[in-house]
Amino acid sequence: MTSPEYAPIPPSALGPAVNDQGYYVGRVERNLYYVTDSVYQAAFLATPDGVVMFDAPPSIGHNLQRAVDEVAAAEGVSNKVTHLVYSHHHDDHSGASSLFGGDVVRIGHEETKRLLLRDGNPARPAPDITFADQYTLEVGGERVELAWHGPNHSPDNIYIHFPGHDTLMFIDVVNAGWVPIYNTNLSEDVPGYMGAPAIALSYPWTHFICGHLGRLATRDDVAVHQQYIADIEASAREALASVDPVPFYTAAWPNFWAGVKGHLDAVTERTAAPVVAKYTGVLAAADIEIFTYTTSFAIMQSLRLDSGPSGPVHP
Ligand SMILES: [Zn+2]
Repeated sequence: MTSPEYAPIPPSALGPAVNDQGYYVGRVERNLYYVTDSVYQAAFLATPDGVVMFDAPPSIGHNLQRAVDEVAAAEGVSNKVTHLVYSHHHDDHSGASSLFGGDVVRIGHEETKRLLLRDGNPARPAPDITFADQYTLEVGGERVELAWHGPNHSPDNIYIHFPGHDTLMFIDVVNAGWVPIYNTNLSEDVPGYMGAPAIALSYPWTHFICGHLGRLATRDDVAVHQQYIADIEASAREALASVDPVPFYTAAWPNFWAGVKGHLDAVTERTAAPVVAKYTGVLAAADIEIFTYTTSFAIMQSLRLDSGPSGPVHP
């Protein structure tokens, strides 16, 4: 079944078919694997000393252990998950954590711990091991480098580098082959979100686990996403400079908020329309205009409020 009101999704934006139980598990490199239900992704390292799980999306749920069992049986290694690394605190990437019980060692950023304790959801226990900037995890002869480089999608979102597997896992910023969903992919720190792909590209890697949809990402996917965001930023700068706010406020006076709406809607429209046109057929779902419009709004507001100026100084 397809959505008749939208353009067809290019096959290159789709991942492998899932099995009868609704998951696909694929080798990334050597003993690093990723699991997807076509919308969410997790990953795991199958070592001689046990399995290290990276994220536990509830939509994959019990299929995480099924995927581990499948690989462990084929490779003749333990299927016991001994460690679980949180990319960030959001429930949609961690809500199946409690399926792995109380003995698994959970690892995450110190802010992930604070936020999980705040949220108090027993489905996602707070990490036992936390770090502020960097943490090296060594299990079964494998090394994983965890790093926090500032807030982006969430305050606690970390970079997970697998130097022995030529892979970076970084969640909820780049959607391989697809546009971000609403509001810069539901991000809290817009300048951090906009700068994150350059940090991701500063690591050496060939394979990128982005957390969403069905396939792994490439460096080219990250570059296309970066260009999409750069195009929105350039378009927003142009629109902010060229749309005259005065007529909107004059027409709406004394309903100042109606003036705000008229002005900002016009800036958003002028920002987003050319970007939607450019990326339809390039990034999947670019023709779902609300995504680029809300991302344009978020970036345009960040240009005003974070970068400044927010407006002219009264004479
Ligand atoms: Zn998230």
